[in-house]
Amino acid sequence: MPISEFDLIRRFLQHATAQREDVVLGIGDDCALLDMPPGRQLAVSMDTLVEGRHFVPGADPAALGHKALAVNLSDLAAMGAEPAWATLSLTLPGPDSAWLESFVAGFSALAAIHNLQLVGGDTTRGPLSITVQVHGFVAADSALRRDGACPGDGIYISGTIGDAALALGLMQSRPKTPVPEALRLRLDRPTPRTMLGRLLAGKASAAIDVSDGLVADLGHVCTSSGVAARIEVGQIPVSASAEGYLEQLGWRPVLAGGDDYELLFCVPGDVEADVVTSCREGGHRVTLIGSVEVGAGVSLVYPDGRVSRETPAGFDHFMDT
Ligand code: ADP
Ligand code: MG
Repeated sequence: MPISEFDLIRRFLQHATAQREDVVLGIGDDCALLDMPPGRQLAVSMDTLVEGRHFVPGADPAALGHKALAVNLSDLAAMGAEPAWATLSLTLPGPDSAWLESFVAGFSALAAIHNLQLVGGDTTRGPLSITVQVHGFVAADSALRRDGACPGDGIYISGTIGDAALALGLMQSRPKTPVPEALRLRLDRPTPRTMLGRLLAGKASAAIDVSDGLVADLGHVCTSSGVAARIEVGQIPVSASAEGYLEQLGWRPVLAGGDDYELLFCVPGDVEADVVTSCREGGHRVTLIGSVEVGAGVSLVYPDGRVSRETPAGFDHFMDT
């Protein structure tokens, strides 16, 4: 039976997420009404996933619901902000209840973990496209910006790098190669590092989430901060699942692959020991991979001693996959 846009919203979206006390008015009116906590700044970010560009036609709707929210939560994490609210713009080819139910299940499960409430959005008909906007709180002057890195800071990365790019590479390879589950999950169900980001707020000098590739994203920090970076390539943490592939494929998935949604951050020397201790006490894997230097561009020091210099203009050449 065909279902109207109004019914879709009421049935699947209105009660999709937990109710927060700071939401005076959620889905159902012309606007949501939201209370800001005193003394905090609002961090806002938006990302769109388009069928055929960011995901293949027929992709699992639950995974899409997760990923559409996860990539946005990752931006809040990279800013050190605490997630609060989201809006969702859905362009759907037709009123497909089964698709929407599954999409909302993926979205809601991740929203619940982060105590985030869906407070509004828009629903239209057209080629499948998903836009999420997130709103989070951060104490005034504590946000993790890209422009605060200073020479002498240590450069750290959370988790492991390269898994998502390897999963994508294997999925696209011909003849088809099976993709290990651990790698596929990293691509389809990324874990936004919001708790780590909040812990780093006010302590790290700069941060960014790795969505375009480690070197490209580090390059953004260097350019914004007016500094250079030196990375010990052999120190970059890779997962057990990725290790075997790297022997065949080289460092490219680690240096240039995107979509891992780990946090790359810089820490001033005088607080480095404290920050690393509190990260590890909080259960976060963080690894020192290099240092901030005077100058511009990113130097990569390979385990065999070779050094390559990536200039800001060159960051993009990694992105030709
Ligand atoms: P309007 O025509 O006033 O913009 P809509 O009919 O688009 O209102 O939406 C009605 C209510 O449903 C609004 O509160 C809106 O925020 C909410 N809404 C619409 N689409 C979505 C969606 N995809 N996700 C969450 N809320 C939605
Ligand atoms: Mg509308």
